[in-house]
Amino acid sequence: MNIKLENILAVISDEREYEIEETDIFIKDGIIQGIGKFDGEFKADKIVDGKDKLAVPGLINCHTHTYMSVFRNIADDLSFDDWLFKNIMPREDKLSNEDAYWGALLACVEMIKTGTTCFLDMHMFKNQTARAAVDSGMRAVISRGLSGENRNDEGSVRRINEALEEFDEWKDKEKLSFMLAPHAIYTCGTDYIEFIIDKAKEYNLPLHTHLSETRYEVSEAKKNYNMTPVQYLDSLGFFETGTVAAHCVHLEDIDFDILKEKNVSVALNPISNMKLGNGFAPVCKMIDKGINICMGTDSAASNNSLNLFSDMNHTALIHKGLNENAQAVNAFEVFKAATINGAKALKINSGQIKVGKAADIAILDLNCPQMRPKNNIMAALSYSANGSEVDTVIIGGDIVMENRKLSYIDEKEVYDKVEKIAEKIK
Ligand SMILES: [Zn+2]
Repeated sequence: MNIKLENILAVISDEREYEIEETDIFIKDGIIQGIGKFDGEFKADKIVDGKDKLAVPGLINCHTHTYMSVFRNIADDLSFDDWLFKNIMPREDKLSNEDAYWGALLACVEMIKTGTTCFLDMHMFKNQTARAAVDSGMRAVISRGLSGENRNDEGSVRRINEALEEFDEWKDKEKLSFMLAPHAIYTCGTDYIEFIIDKAKEYNLPLHTHLSETRYEVSEAKKNYNMTPVQYLDSLGFFETGTVAAHCVHLEDIDFDILKEKNVSVALNPISNMKLGNGFAPVCKMIDKGINICMGTDSAASNNSLNLFSDMNHTALIHKGLNENAQAVNAFEVFKAATINGAKALKINSGQIKVGKAADIAILDLNCPQMRPKNNIMAALSYSANGSEVDTVIIGGDIVMENRKLSYIDEKEVYDKVEKIAEKIK
């Protein structure tokens, strides 16, 4: 479908700067093929009137666990260990594949409605995130969470086989791509991590993991390996095929150099880190070092929403307060983390309104009090927007939501299903 966004205010950005301009955007074959003008003849199948609207690159959520949306508000105000080992993991055992699918679909509904067009998922239920992404029209990078002692134990083998089978089954879907996801250094033995690294090389897949999330993780690594978690993974050759490392809250000086040198993208999850009492990632220092920072929500069990605008807002504010410096982490840095840097982390052709990029666009309604007056659109996106402004969402040239109505998902059905699942796992 050929779509023309007509006379629309748009955020045109690259890594260094941005412009806000009123323009026309031409979408053809899923790609942005013209901004302001289109070379040749363009017959629009659909014209979106841009009056009082704002087009931004779709947000990119670089760390989440979509199936866990069924756990929203089920275990709160608990320490990280009580939360994960006593409350989340036992409940995961009660979920069926079908339950995980509906949880993932609920996550897709929430992400689309708050302007996210692509997400990186770490899951435990083969095929279910892929199904939900395809059914909702979302772009997704899918990674099966892997845990285990070594390459020979039955569970470890089963999990990596599931990851590779899933990759094989869905790899031709246009909007899907894949990573391998060793869950964390405290849930994977060294031999298993080495095995996963070999598989990542064999299949040319990047890696997605939790890294240096808690002080305890760092102190255990030092005790066991005499290295920080970042040093330890580097010593195994972990960062060679591309990595998205979620959290990186507790870093030491040497870690910054390794992350930069190995081109590791760090997915910040500020709300999850605060909610689980884990602290604040050293974002200013990461920016100074030139590390690619992107944004994640983590799951709805530790956030407790998948609204990336909220994580953007927190990122912009936390570090000003923490550093007693109002110029720390400005609005554009945060916006880039949620768009262009995310695309770089996930190796997808998205994150910018630019000719040749995938047409992944969120259209916000500016007729909301928090968006007026239009003094500074970039500031509005990081400091004022709450996600409810998102009106229409286009992913790969496909309108997946228009005037807040989802094109492919029956919202009511999703809500009914997840309430039943919540009842079952209580
Ligand atoms: Zn996580």
